[in-house]
Amino acid sequence: MSTISQQLIAVKSQITLAASQAEREHDQIKLLAVSKTKPAADVKAAYQAGQRQFGENYVQEGVDKILALASDPDIIEPVEWHFIGPLQSNKTRLVAEHFDWVQSIDRDKIAQRLNDQRPAELPPLNVCLQVNISGEATKSGTTLSQVVDLASQVNTLPRLKLRGIMAIPAKTSDQTALNNSFQQLHQLYLQLQRNYPSMDTLSMGMTGDMQAAILAGSTMVRVGTAIFGARDYQN
Ligand SMILES: *Cc1c(COP(=O)(O)O)cnc(C)c1O
Repeated sequence: MSTISQQLIAVKSQITLAASQAEREHDQIKLLAVSKTKPAADVKAAYQAGQRQFGENYVQEGVDKILALASDPDIIEPVEWHFIGPLQSNKTRLVAEHFDWVQSIDRDKIAQRLNDQRPAELPPLNVCLQVNISGEATKSGTTLSQVVDLASQVNTLPRLKLRGIMAIPAKTSDQTALNNSFQQLHQLYLQLQRNYPSMDTLSMGMTGDMQAAILAGSTMVRVGTAIFGARDYQN
């Protein structure tokens, strides 16, 4: 068994454990395998271990892997690709043409471009609004006060399907502050869901904080390091 498949099994059992602590069913929490900086061969290893949803942060690197897997005769079942990194307007076309989801929508202009550039033969692009929950100037994401407006704008775009919200709380050793952020996001998600029933995704939790995120109501954890190992940005 490959290291990746063993680590995938370990992550899934962590999810199942956290779900049972939260008295939730484990299938209410989806696992997005974040493969940024890792080669297509690693994505294939995870696919062969049963994983079907992958997250990428860099447009060209992601598209290269999407095309590599699409032309691999061993990859038979559909693979779902999520773009989760910061997105500049000059890169939206490639994302609209190749990805199934974009979780990092943080402004109207990006949403509008993705809508206009989504190819007619593809289904609407699934999107999450990225919320800057920790209020950090450096992190991308819309503020809590702007997210309601952004949701109503995105909801009018026919080639986008509003699926939920995504957040990356600031790294902190303060567990209480982290739990508060996750709970605030859960409340926001429930509030938005009342107006937008297409919303079914609260994307929060990564390698270091997936248990806390699941306890607070996450429906999708995005896990890189625990599945694929530490990233080397030199490559
Ligand atoms: C890199 C990344 C992850 C995965 O982080 P790990 O700590 O390696 O699990 C999740 N979400 C986003 C948006 C990321 O950029």
